Amino acid sequence: MELTNGTYTIQGLNVADICKEFGTPLYVYDASKIIEQLKSLKNAFSDTDVRIKYAAKALTNISILKLLKKHGAGVDVVSLQEAHLALGAGFPAHEIMYTPNCVDFEEIVEGVSLGLNINLDNLSVLEKFGKKYGNTYPCCVRLNPHIMAGGNYKISTGHSNSKFGISVYQLPQIMELAQKHNIIINGLHIHTGSEITETDVFLKMAEILFGIARDFPALKFIDFGGGFKVAYKEGDMVTNVYDLGLKLGKAFKEFYLSYGRKLELWIEPGKYLVSGAGTLITKTNVVKSTPSVTFVGVNSGLNQLIRPMMYDAYHEIVNISNPAGSQKVYTVVGNICETDTLGADRKLNEVREGDLIAIKNAGAYGYSMASNYNSRFKPAEVLILNGEAKLIRRRDTLEDILRGQIDVI
Ligand SMILES: *Cc1c(COP(=O)(O)O)cnc(C)c1O
Repeated sequence: MELTNGTYTIQGLNVADICKEFGTPLYVYDASKIIEQLKSLKNAFSDTDVRIKYAAKALTNISILKLLKKHGAGVDVVSLQEAHLALGAGFPAHEIMYTPNCVDFEEIVEGVSLGLNINLDNLSVLEKFGKKYGNTYPCCVRLNPHIMAGGNYKISTGHSNSKFGISVYQLPQIMELAQKHNIIINGLHIHTGSEITETDVFLKMAEILFGIARDFPALKFIDFGGGFKVAYKEGDMVTNVYDLGLKLGKAFKEFYLSYGRKLELWIEPGKYLVSGAGTLITKTNVVKSTPSVTFVGVNSGLNQLIRPMMYDAYHEIVNISNPAGSQKVYTVVGNICETDTLGADRKLNEVREGDLIAIKNAGAYGYSMASNYNSRFKPAEVLILNGEAKLIRRRDTLEDILRGQIDVI
C-alpha cells in the first residue's frame, strides 16, 4: 500500500475504491509483493540448491497457493486438510512437506498414501512408522536443537520445553529405531520458531544439524524451517536474508562436500512471503472519547486478526481516509465483546466515524487464524493481481454460520 498524492493505492488502485466494491472488513493482498519476497529468497540462496517450501498455514487461500506454485515455490503443510488444499492447488505430492505434530498415526498413514514427504517429530511415531513401512517409504526427522530463538516464548518452538521435535539428546534412540526397522531417513529438519533475526541462530542450527547429519547416509535434504522476521514497524530488526543465504549457503556447501554427496537445502518461510503483502481494511464505526482514552472502534476485531491479543504483536495502523488530518493519539479496538485492542496509543491522522482504517502486515496469520467468534462473519479476501482487484474469497453469510448446526429442539 502506497500513499501518492494524498491517496492510498495498491498497484495503482485506490484502496477506498476497492473497499467500495468489496465492502469492509477486507483482507487485501498485493500479489506483486508476494512474488518479490519469493524472488528475494531465491536470489539470496542463488548459489545453493534451495527449495522454498511455503508454510501454508500463514495464509491458505488457494489462489495464494497457486500464485506461489506458479512462481516456483513448494509447500509445507501441517495438517491433512492443508495437504488437500496444496494438492488442489496443483502441487505435486513430492513437493509437499508434511510436518504434523501430535496427530493420530492414521493421519500419517494417510499422508503416506497421498505420497507426501513425511516429517516425524516423536520417537513413538517414528517407531510405528518403522514397523509399518520399514524401508519402503522414507521419512524426515524433526529435531529439537534446544535453542531459544524467535520473537517470544509463545512462537519459539525449538527450546527444551517445546512440544516440537525429537530432542537432539535422543539421537541414540533415533539411530536405534532406524537400524531396527531399516527406516530410510531422507531428511533432517529444524524449525526453531518465528521472527528469528540473527543469521547466527541459523548458523548455530546448521552446525548442530551438520554434526548429526554425517550419521545419516540416505539424506536427500536438510530443512532449516522458517521463521524469517519481517518489519512490523519502522526500524524493526529483520532477518537479513542475503547475509543468511550467503553464510548458510557456504556452510552448507562445505558440509555436503565432506558428506560426499550434493544435498538440497530446504527452507519453510511463511510470514516472510505473505505478511507484508496483506492489509486488513476496516471501517470506523465509532469514535469514543473517555476522560483518558479516545477509542477508534472498527468493524473488525480479534476474531479477524488475533495476533495483537495473542502475541502482543504490533501492527502498524493508518487512517487512509484522512491522510492530511492532524495527528492525534487513539486506541484502535474492534467490535467484539471481549477486550480486542488492535493497537494502543497510536498516532493517527484525525479519525472520523466512517473513516477507513488499515492494519498493515496482516497477510500472515491474519485470515488463517480468523474465527467466527461472536457469530460474526469472516471477512472477504481480495488479491490485487496485475493491476486488477480479484475476489478470492467471499464474505461469510448467515448460512456459513448455520452450516453444520443441527437443531434438535
Ligand atoms: C509455522 C511454520 C513455519 C513458518 O514459520 P514463519 O514464522 O511463518 O516463517 C515453517 N515450518 C513449520 C514446520 C511451521 O510450523
